[in-house]
Amino acid sequence: MLKAFFESFLDLIYKQKCCVCGCSKTNEILCKNCAKTVHNLSGYAQRKIEDVCIFSAFKYEETIKKIIRNFKFNRRKSAAIPCAALLFEYYKKVCKQNDFHFDNLNAILVCVPSHPLRTMKRGYCHNEILTKEFSKLCNIDYDFSLIKKVKNTVPQYKVRANQKAKNIKDAFKIFPKNINNKTIILIDDVITTGSTLYEVIVNLKKYSYNKIIVLTLAC
Ligand SMILES: [Zn+2]
Repeated sequence: MLKAFFESFLDLIYKQKCCVCGCSKTNEILCKNCAKTVHNLSGYAQRKIEDVCIFSAFKYEETIKKIIRNFKFNRRKSAAIPCAALLFEYYKKVCKQNDFHFDNLNAILVCVPSHPLRTMKRGYCHNEILTKEFSKLCNIDYDFSLIKKVKNTVPQYKVRANQKAKNIKDAFKIFPKNINNKTIILIDDVITTGSTLYEVIVNLKKYSYNKIIVLTLAC
């Protein structure tokens, strides 16, 4: 009986719950049933923007959409943890397939930031907390002082596709630092038209950084 008690106690501590349906039939981030509903992408770059490789873990569909929307719009700050874990699983695949070897000495994590007013309204900057959680898993430091959003734009999802580039133009400012030898790993939740990432990448490139790669949860 004591053994059973300890086993259920350990289950409680260590057993992972599926981040979508909440069932505890798994030790993974997604249970088998939910894992079947996501579309995993390859560890090779899905696309390039200004020669920067964009790596996305999943197709932006059903289950993944639900996870990201919960995290982003429903004030589910804790959803950053499974999101970061999913991104980290994908990141390992990217490193293996592309023969990347990043560590704290040669890489730095940054993210596409929200405008301070938007952060205040939401209560958190979702990409920052995603990056912080991701940083704990990959052991690479983050620095959010490098890129700031200086224009409080209309959210891109509310803007027509042909207006997105105009909407986001000059929205970010780079505060360059002495990180010339570092690879910048830029994190964003979702890439759709790529206008936001284009704007950030073009600005970052003005400061001739060694290498930039982009990691997103979905595309
Ligand atoms: Zn599930």
